[in-house]
Amino acid sequence: LSERLGGVFDRLTKQGALSEDDVRTAMREVRVALLEADVSLPVARQFIKAVEKKATGASVTKSVTPGQQVVKIVHDELIATLAGEGEPGALRIDNAPAPILMVGLQGSGKTTTTAKLAKRLKERDRKKVLMASLDVNRPAAMEQLQILGQQIGVDTLPIVKGEDPVAIAKRAKTQASLGGYDVYMLDTAGRLHIDAELIQQAADVRDVVNPRETLLVVDGLTGQDAVNVATEFDDKIGVSGVVLTRMDGDGRGGAALSMRAITGKPIKFVGLGEKMDALETFEPERVAGRILGMGDIVALVEKAQQTLEAEQAERMMKRFQKGQFNMNDLKMQLEQMMKMGGLQGMMQMMPGAAKMAKQMDEAGLDDKILRQQVALINSMTKKERANPQLLQASRKKRIAAGAGMEVADLNKLLKMQRQMSDMMKKMGKMGKGGMLKQAMK
Ligand code: GDP
Ligand code: MG
Repeated sequence: LSERLGGVFDRLTKQGALSEDDVRTAMREVRVALLEADVSLPVARQFIKAVEKKATGASVTKSVTPGQQVVKIVHDELIATLAGEGEPGALRIDNAPAPILMVGLQGSGKTTTTAKLAKRLKERDRKKVLMASLDVNRPAAMEQLQILGQQIGVDTLPIVKGEDPVAIAKRAKTQASLGGYDVYMLDTAGRLHIDAELIQQAADVRDVVNPRETLLVVDGLTGQDAVNVATEFDDKIGVSGVVLTRMDGDGRGGAALSMRAITGKPIKFVGLGEKMDALETFEPERVAGRILGMGDIVALVEKAQQTLEAEQAERMMKRFQKGQFNMNDLKMQLEQMMKMGGLQGMMQMMPGAAKMAKQMDEAGLDDKILRQQVALINSMTKKERANPQLLQASRKKRIAAGAGMEVADLNKLLKMQRQMSDMMKKMGKMGKGGMLKQAMK
């Protein structure tokens, strides 16, 4: 009987796999969505190719079409690509005074973003901030920053007419040290297009202040162009992070993906309007949803996955009530635990299991061990999983070797399975499984 049930489990988890055809068909739609969102063509191509490889052969959740499954995979992959390492929005601004250099094309939103970020640093991080405009090209550019500074209560470097950007940067550095500032922000001049002079200017300033962060401000409504801009700035000046502005508009923010894919630099913030509060930490989930524009499908697949998990849990509970608990069950439990952030949290919710949780914790049952145990179970045959009592010395040796571990490790796992099985039997006898049901929630 338990053999047959084991088979049911296998079928439940594997509802067929995505064929090359499934993937290719769905990817046509995805490609259109990406291009409509202004993801640059080479980036869209490259992204699709990578996901195609990953998606082919992946399993399809019950009650979901292959196409829908592909969309979900694309969505998850988008999030993974958009998310950089480290905390979004984090800036390296220890060692006061920390210089932040703001670069980008004219009109991208540098000056506005400089002030927004200064306000954030002041209010959220309690930093004393000095802002300086190095824009000697555009008339009234310096006054623009000064006015914003007054508005948000952040100091700006006094304006001296006729100075060049390097001289202003030096003055800002001195002023920041003398004035006890934590951070000083340099708002550079932009051009409508990248040119050698602009780049040289920014590079000269960089060499003078040695910025802790060089933030590239990019208009989120620009698609193709944004990529060239980013590459150029990164090659010539070196960029530590990106701020995407105008993400409050109708655009779908494909520039975000292009930016990440090409420069590999983290997107730190997004601008969501002209107001000084309209700056937020970059959220990959939100932007991914917007780029793909298939939120309904993603939600549907997530729902189906949840339903399936609930069904599996229900089925398992029924087995537990009968006191059945084999290696397949243990494996699912272990995987569930990994998802739920460890064994302890889960065990503690189960009445009577708190003591065992403590024992397991003392035995050092962390995530690594959970993974090792899953590996052990994976190296068992179907039959062995369903009937762990089959495991005699020679089989044990083979299984342990297959998982790259010792027989002693396997013995521990078997002991655990026996204990769990006993516990399930006891709980089953307590009737109706009400408690168990609660614990599984
Ligand atoms: P700079 O030339 O790079 O310094 O650009 P500015 O900071 O002067 O911004 C140019 C225009 O874009 C201004 O009118 C800003 O108010 C506007 N702007 C900047 N960031 C955003 C944003 O996130 N959303 C919207 N809607 N407008 C923005
Ligand atoms: Mg400006």
